[in-house]
Amino acid sequence: MERAPLLDGHGRRIADLRVSVTDRCNFRCQYCMPAEGLPWLEHERILRFEEIARLVALLASMGVHDVRLTGGEPLVRRDFPALVAMLAALPDVRDLSITTNGYLLERDAQALVKAGAMRFNVSIDSLQRDRFYALTRRDALDQVLRGLRLLAGFPQIGPIKINAVAIRGFTEDEVPAFVELARSSAYEVRFIEFMPLDADHAWTPEQVLSGAQLHALIDALHPLEPLEREPSATARVYRFADGQGRIGLINPVSEPFCGDCNRIRLTADGKLRTCLFSLAETDLRGPLRAGADDAELEQIIRDAVWRKELKHHIGERGFIQPARTMSAIGG
Ligand code: SAM
Ligand code: SF4
Repeated sequence: MERAPLLDGHGRRIADLRVSVTDRCNFRCQYCMPAEGLPWLEHERILRFEEIARLVALLASMGVHDVRLTGGEPLVRRDFPALVAMLAALPDVRDLSITTNGYLLERDAQALVKAGAMRFNVSIDSLQRDRFYALTRRDALDQVLRGLRLLAGFPQIGPIKINAVAIRGFTEDEVPAFVELARSSAYEVRFIEFMPLDADHAWTPEQVLSGAQLHALIDALHPLEPLEREPSATARVYRFADGQGRIGLINPVSEPFCGDCNRIRLTADGKLRTCLFSLAETDLRGPLRAGADDAELEQIIRDAVWRKELKHHIGERGFIQPARTMSAIGG
């Protein structure tokens, strides 16, 4: 059943949903989780596959056609390919993608592609084994790269995007290797500015390597040319002037793109978040389990989305970091 589009109070039409399928993770990235992990949600608080599928179907019928599955690490959720198959079968879901740290891709890539996953983002912050270990606290680069190569062998998915968090004092040294990778493969390498969503609340503005600084570093190696920005895209995409490869710069801190943000998020425990930096959330799991029908759920969702934040306030006086970390929100 086709429903009216989902609009917020600032006139933005919501078309993109990020679903966190678990808060658990097999990595402990410095910018996301503490070394000892976090207290995981108890099993019964996590949305079941049928519950996720019901909410996704409802949102998709309101025009939220793009769905990205994330976490925590989505591939650690048991039977995750079965969820992918359920969502891929929904008629109004047009784009189904996954963000993963890649550690379990060797095991799962085939099952996920077969289940209907269409696009993948694989997070890799360093192409050097020791530095990868230092940042993720896991000696796992080789395994991730093997999974990535396996995934790249499936012609029906792509382009595969590689996401690296841009941290000043760390990422500069990674630029030449990532540039070579972007130029010698079909991967689109994207740098994401470090955001204040770390578990340790240790973020400072000085730790952000900005998109402008990265652009200068990359352009000095091989000149870049901007491509036109697609509406609501997070990344500014560039191609190398000689036509070999692409680079994406995601600059939420230095150049916020809130103005045409079309995204909402569903956490693993069934809370609707209208911004990465929301300080309030809307519970959908409670009404769902209490027997709310689709019309009631639709009204709760519309009311929450209507109040979607105009923008984030990073860098402004009084900015408050959300209690949840990126791993518990779903990046
Ligand atoms: N575990 C999966 C992964 O790492 O790809 C999916 C979840 S992870 C939270 C999603 C994305 O958020 C990853 O690309 C990760 O690098 C990014 N991320 C996590 N914490 C971040 C932060 N504080 N600032 C910017 N990006 C962050
Ligand atoms: Fe896990 Fe992804 Fe967070 Fe790293 S960024 S700790 S892989 S959820």
